[in-house]
Amino acid sequence: MRCPFCQSDDSKVIDTTHDTHGGIRRRRECQACKQRFSSFERPILSTPLLIKQDGTREEFDREKLERGIRIACAKRPVSAADIERLVGQVEAELQSLGKSEVSSRLVGDQVVRGLKELDQIAYIRYAIVYLRLDDLHALRSEIDRLLLEP
Ligand SMILES: [Zn+2]
Repeated sequence: MRCPFCQSDDSKVIDTTHDTHGGIRRRRECQACKQRFSSFERPILSTPLLIKQDGTREEFDREKLERGIRIACAKRPVSAADIERLVGQVEAELQSLGKSEVSSRLVGDQVVRGLKELDQIAYIRYAIVYLRLDDLHALRSEIDRLLLEP
């Protein structure tokens, strides 16, 4: 671990602590300049953690996402295979970012985009929950926007 003060590679670990998420924090002392600094190691999952609006993190849950989409697609002409493909697309997209954490909004945005192509009613149902369209005016302007799109 390179010293952030003098760039020396020679540092000594003087303390190691583990956090609840599997991370390891190490307190180090540079042997060249004697400055102290910390380093933090964390395992990176292939699918990034999702940062929710309140700042808490949660793991990407394929089944939960699929359930949400399925509810939005109830009694609509969207096949189980379509839903599975959409979930797979979202997951692959997240993994391709190569990040350890991303905003959970990213997932919602991708689902909304995917559903828009599959079925507009399912899209509106999902968007009501996801975009928090909690009154008729907000809903109507979203539908207007949808109808105006080419
Ligand atoms: Zn140093």
